[in-house]
Amino acid sequence: MSGIRLSPKHGVNPSLLVCFACGDDSGGIALLGRIRKPTATPGRPTIHRDDDDFDAQAPRYMRDTGLCPRCTEAVASGGVILIEVREQPKRPAYEGGAGETLDPKEAEQIRTGRMWAIKGEAFARIFNEAPPAKRLVFIGSDAAALIFGKPGEKKEPT
Ligand SMILES: [Zn+2]
Repeated sequence: MSGIRLSPKHGVNPSLLVCFACGDDSGGIALLGRIRKPTATPGRPTIHRDDDDFDAQAPRYMRDTGLCPRCTEAVASGGVILIEVREQPKRPAYEGGAGETLDPKEAEQIRTGRMWAIKGEAFARIFNEAPPAKRLVFIGSDAAALIFGKPGEKKEPT
């Protein structure tokens, strides 16, 4: 347990880790301890600095860098996970939630909550290219609507 500084208010200050792809419980727990005050400057990396008065409670859930067993299985059996995102004007990397730092690229894309696991062959047929090695693909909502229909619509991928 080296490297974590206990929070006077929240102790080890735990946060449940959820699957990077689907958001289900991934089984992991992050112990954040004392959360230092973040400051965000638009266009620059988030800077964390110590502030004796700042002692935030960890967010209940944090996105894991890994996958839950179900998504791991989908990928291991040759599938590709598509995560729908909509483009969003760039926002500061830090937006009040404690602990989570967004990749600047991802910060421009907000997840819609829709995702699909499709077979590698289906991916190759739909996108006319081989599935990427990491088997996780962010797909814009316009493209997703063409393939899977709009939210609430039933459409079989063709
Ligand atoms: Zn998952």
